[in-house]
Amino acid sequence: MSLFHSKSKHGEGRECVITRRACFSSSHRYWLPEKSPEENLALFGKCSLAPGHGHNYELIVSMGGELDSYGMVLNLSDVKHSIKDKVTEPLNFRFLNDVWPEFDITKDSGILPTTEALVSIIWDRLKNDLPLTGLKLYESPTLWADYYGKKMEALLTVQTHFNAAHRLAKDEITLSENKKIYGKCARINGHGHNYFLDVTVRGDIDPRTGMICDLPSLQTIIDELIVEQLDHTFLNKDIEYFRTCVPTCENIALHIADILTLPIKNIGANLHKIRLQESPNNAAEIYVEQSILNSLQKNLENSLVIQA
Ligand SMILES: [Zn+2]
Ligand SMILES: [Zn+2]
Repeated sequence: MSLFHSKSKHGEGRECVITRRACFSSSHRYWLPEKSPEENLALFGKCSLAPGHGHNYELIVSMGGELDSYGMVLNLSDVKHSIKDKVTEPLNFRFLNDVWPEFDITKDSGILPTTEALVSIIWDRLKNDLPLTGLKLYESPTLWADYYGKKMEALLTVQTHFNAAHRLAKDEITLSENKKIYGKCARINGHGHNYFLDVTVRGDIDPRTGMICDLPSLQTIIDELIVEQLDHTFLNKDIEYFRTCVPTCENIALHIADILTLPIKNIGANLHKIRLQESPNNAAEIYVEQSILNSLQKNLENSLVIQA
């Protein structure tokens, strides 16, 4: 059924993805009995400390389907009850390590309740009730995991920020030409932004540690290679790369992607996406692993074929 074409009234039979948000507060501890206290501390940092710590989790459930004659993909009351029965009721105000048998680390098959492990197990609990298309689980506003039902594969995003100044202008053209192209951004003394940077990595969840990659290492890589380098700089002058490359939001995002790809590979994950938010009104996204434009073009061609 085409998204763009339908003879039915009120959308009946046409496709739509809906989302439902649910919140719960839970505690957890990252601790593996086969490792020494020193090894646990080295692997999991403060997350290994007894008796554990907690988060206010936010879960976004995406579901897809065709609209019924009442104009709904699903009855929201059913959706609410499934999520409550299968997820929020069992998890809210509980210690995750104890709550589900998947997290029983006294058994060899047990996995630590990391955000990415938790979201994949929530998928298993919901998949028979709801036509899931994706799950997003926020551990905090600056760390979240996405899961699409692909066995152990998940996406993990960490958000950080830095402040930097820049000026948008090319040396080889005149000031008035630069102002025509870049507007106020070409003013000669520059201006600044509070940048928010989302780094998304993709990989398989380790069946024991529950991690796509070592999170402290990922955070160290981002801090040392990006934040420490770019924070409180005038990009055009302080960063060698931007002496000859105009530091637009797009170019900064691409440069960050180029810097991070290999170090993230070296800790066992794949850099999937960089999102750089320059202001509340504009952001740049780099899909490192695929050409988003090609897939958009394919979708467009497919929809044209269906309509023809
Ligand atoms: Zn935690
Ligand atoms: Zn700017």
